Amino acid sequence: MNISAIEKEKLDLLLELGKNSHPREFAALLSATSGVISEVHMIPGSIGGPTSAQIPFDMVPINLGIVGSAHSHPNGAICPSEADIHFFAVSGSCHIIVGYPYGSDDWRCFLPDGTRYHLGVV
Ligand SMILES: [Zn+2]
Repeated sequence: MNISAIEKEKLDLLLELGKNSHPREFAALLSATSGVISEVHMIPGSIGGPTSAQIPFDMVPINLGIVGSAHSHPNGAICPSEADIHFFAVSGSCHIIVGYPYGSDDWRCFLPDGTRYHLGVV
């Protein structure tokens, strides 16, 4: 794990995406510069369902340098589901979940095994 923080602007964008997608989920992939998450990639064809979000990985350009993912939990429970853990395992090391009501504290970051990870905001 060499990701230490996310740009505040990108965190705000993720919370905004959650709000705009509500009551459905959104899903995106994240890439970083010098250990700071600096890009949010909305992948064409991502499915935002009421209980799970899926990303078609054959649509992901391999050179994006993906370090993790972000998705929303419209039910406000900010902890990874079993399906999330399976998804985390194949999509990088740092995974953000934002939850209803998408306020500035309504997000958490997790490692691929589902344990909490303290991600800074810069
Ligand atoms: Zn989830």
